[in-house]
Amino acid sequence: MTRYAPRLLATVSALAAALTFFSTSTVAAEEKVLNLYSARHYQTDEALYNNFTQQTGIKINRIEGKEEELLERIRNEGANSPADILLTVDAARLAVAHDLGLFAPVKSTILEARIPAHLRTDDWFSFSTRARVLVVSKRAIKPGEVSSYADLAKPALKGKVCSRSGAHPYNLSLLASIIAHQGEAKAEEWARGVVANFARAPKGGDTDQIKSVAAGECDVAISNSYYVARLMRSTKPADRKVVERISVVWPDQQGVGTHINVSGGGVLKHAPHKEAALKFLEYLASDEAQRYFADGNNEWPVVASVKVSNPALDALGKFKADTLEVGKLADYRVKAQMIFDRAGFR
Ligand code: FE
Repeated sequence: MTRYAPRLLATVSALAAALTFFSTSTVAAEEKVLNLYSARHYQTDEALYNNFTQQTGIKINRIEGKEEELLERIRNEGANSPADILLTVDAARLAVAHDLGLFAPVKSTILEARIPAHLRTDDWFSFSTRARVLVVSKRAIKPGEVSSYADLAKPALKGKVCSRSGAHPYNLSLLASIIAHQGEAKAEEWARGVVANFARAPKGGDTDQIKSVAAGECDVAISNSYYVARLMRSTKPADRKVVERISVVWPDQQGVGTHINVSGGGVLKHAPHKEAALKFLEYLASDEAQRYFADGNNEWPVVASVKVSNPALDALGKFKADTLEVGKLADYRVKAQMIFDRAGFR
């Protein structure tokens, strides 16, 4: 019996070692996963995520959905939510997630060093920017005739302005920036002026407004820059025709600069993989990821040193952007909605 003892001991310790190994590797495997809830659905995002997995060994499980659906889902899942990261577009929507207490505070010297202060908050970060531009009819509007958001409200443009709904986050954020710069009274005056100038009641998305200008239904429209860039890069003859008939105006170049909005995201409060989540945000701010992230939707990187080679963005050229803190837009989101309602910008 004693003859077998050492062997038994050896077997037991080998087993124990194997168990220890097994359990650590199980934990490690659990940590090598990131659950991403994303309202972005661009083809290039595939490469963006694969590249992260290659660099870190962290596999990304992606749940894609509409902004409102994802927010609702995270709320309903509560403390049991498997979601680590929420990625979405528009500061107003990111602010809603913040107001609902969905994000966890993040401290990262990398993010602080790479992302300009006005493009981040304590719990969510911007990774690309888009501009709210004016699209004007080459035929009907002389160069220089329209140069600011304020012009949209002037009597000279009566019956000539097209826009999507005032309830949409893009327009709410634009109005929020006007409230932040000029106060509520001026902002309301502006909203009423724009409504008085509509060629038709607001409808459709930004691309529809651009097409309305090309079709002569209106002479000036408001649109996010990437919708214009998308048409500029399109090879469809109908889109080429649209692009030939319009020009893009960067509003407020003599003033505070063109209103910009962002794509961004943050780590969720109940994220089961917080370490991986932070790594992912820091990865999104890397040179390589910035190029994928921004260029995938014809946007601009937030990291100033990153160069994107995109023919449409190159053709649009440089402009002065408003440097208002994106977090500030959230402060006026509710007021903006009330003003649009009162002004009849629906
Ligand atoms: Fe959009």
